[in-house]
Amino acid sequence: MAKKIYITRRIPEIGIKMLQDKGYELDINPKDRPLKEKELVRALGKKPYDAVLCLLTDQIGAKIFDSVPTAKIFANYAVGFNNIAVEEAKKRGVMITNTPGALTDTVAEHTVALILSLTCRIVEGDSFTRKGKYEGWAPMHLLGTDLKGKTIGILGAGRIGARVAHIVKNGFGMNVIYYDVARNEEFEKEYEAKYFGAVDEVLKEADVVSIHVPLLDSTRHLINKERLAMMKKTAYLVNTSRGPVIDEVALVDALKNGVIRGAALDVFENEPKLAKGLAKLDNAVITPHIASATEKARGEMAILASTNIIAFFEGKTPPNIV
Ligand code: NAD
Repeated sequence: MAKKIYITRRIPEIGIKMLQDKGYELDINPKDRPLKEKELVRALGKKPYDAVLCLLTDQIGAKIFDSVPTAKIFANYAVGFNNIAVEEAKKRGVMITNTPGALTDTVAEHTVALILSLTCRIVEGDSFTRKGKYEGWAPMHLLGTDLKGKTIGILGAGRIGARVAHIVKNGFGMNVIYYDVARNEEFEKEYEAKYFGAVDEVLKEADVVSIHVPLLDSTRHLINKERLAMMKKTAYLVNTSRGPVIDEVALVDALKNGVIRGAALDVFENEPKLAKGLAKLDNAVITPHIASATEKARGEMAILASTNIIAFFEGKTPPNIV
């Protein structure tokens, strides 16, 4: 009998085709939005699915596992897997996979775009010009910040953090300092990066702080009111990791009161909602969780997610077990 897979929202065709070519039976959520938990439970209860391909917008926990006890693999279409109760899955012998690497360059490029948007005041300048306010060149108008010789503080020197360090070190001549739970000597050598054993030390010294840690209990509100106060008044904060790593209410407050100079966010604490006041701030640049949104990255993520399922069904070890 053909293996049955439930896909919680349409992903790029290339991944779907890989699964169809294997003769698997696919059911795809027909709505172009995430399913609510109740809807997902109902959908999964319809057939004895052997696998679920899920997204970061799906909260996968005991209720979902109960609704489809036949599914022994959940392939997450994301590198982050904070949306899945991994320990609960382990207890039940359910394998979880993710899609690391496929989006590293893409997310790093978006991060650098956000940094430049802040330091070159791109969004403010664009909005000013479109509003018809531009009346000619002025010596003191919309002054930004040069990156050359400045210091970037990377929080989480993994795949994406390292790629960001590569671009800003080699492209702009920035100095690199970092904090990570695991010291990374290769990273230090490659980017002449200075390691700090405490996040506070990085915050005090960096001109730009860029966050690349996974969302864990230990990283929730890693950046809070006290830590924002440790940063330089002239510093910028950029987050393309996960929203809850920053206390967003405290950040809005800090931006309003000049505690730091600016912030750029691709992810939010209560997505898709924004903290009150955030959207009104000129010194904030915000994008709607699109750091990995290129055709190449999303296509490669689809290939990886499908590869994990195919390997599992064929009795091989999936390449990206969490
Ligand atoms: P990675 O696993 O390669 O790197 C994460 C790094 O964080 C590792 O070096 C790890 O040691 C470090 N780390 C873990 N816990 C820490 C802690 N408590 N304090 C400091 N450092 C800690 O992951 P990656 O591929 O670089 O991705 C990083 C994160 O980016 C993902 O977990 C995901 O949540 C996020 N992400 C977001 C988007 C987006 O669309 N905005 C896309 C891809 C990934």
